[in-house]
Amino acid sequence: MKTAIAIDGPSGAGKSTISKLLAKELGFTYVDTGAIYRTVGVFVHRNGIDPKSAEAVSSVLDKINIEIKHIGGQQKLYLNGEDVTVAIREHIISEYASAVSAIPAVRAFLLDMQRAFAERDNVIMDGRDIGTVVLPDAEIKIFLTATDEDRARRRYEELAARGQNVPFETVLSDMRARDARDSARAVAPLVAADDAILVDTTGNTLEKSVKVIREIVSARLGELKNV
Ligand code: C5P
Repeated sequence: MKTAIAIDGPSGAGKSTISKLLAKELGFTYVDTGAIYRTVGVFVHRNGIDPKSAEAVSSVLDKINIEIKHIGGQQKLYLNGEDVTVAIREHIISEYASAVSAIPAVRAFLLDMQRAFAERDNVIMDGRDIGTVVLPDAEIKIFLTATDEDRARRRYEELAARGQNVPFETVLSDMRARDARDSARAVAPLVAADDAILVDTTGNTLEKSVKVIREIVSARLGELKNV
């Protein structure tokens, strides 16, 4: 039996950094599902398609082949054979990913790919709908949040570290718009599963947040062993 840990929440709450670290500690496969939506975003952006048009985006899905490889603990994304691991992190692609992710056909297109990881490996999967839709039977579900300002600050620092100097106010307002869209969409909205443990990382150092999540995960894994 495989064990799945679902980590959901809005952008900048620390999902990916924390998940990556814990996956390494536990020897689990880390799956960043946002990266998969971003890969669709890259295709749509490059082809000049309106990311909000369900019709236009749905009609090109059969031209999109996505592969995910885990190399040395790092997740790499390939779009039609090309490594787009860096391209998916462009600020503009966040907008495209969020827009295409509201289209039901896109979500359906990516569902099996995400589930296949959990069938094959023990996983820590992060996203928006992992505990509610992708892996509703996940053994451990955590919903991470933090204030808008805290999350935007982290995103701003992440972008700056990659040499993308987007003003803080732009990062904050874009993030709020994206969260509002992710939460309001009809299909698989950003919402905590009923059985998720809520963790607020506001004001925490990364070490503190990792410690909190590690304790929750260890306790639950211990319980599962004793079942
Ligand atoms: O997590 P990240 O910011 O990379 O995700 C990019 C976008 O992909 C999110 O804003 C969200 O709209 C979408 N997404 C989603 N469901 C997921 C993961 C990401 O809708 N499971």
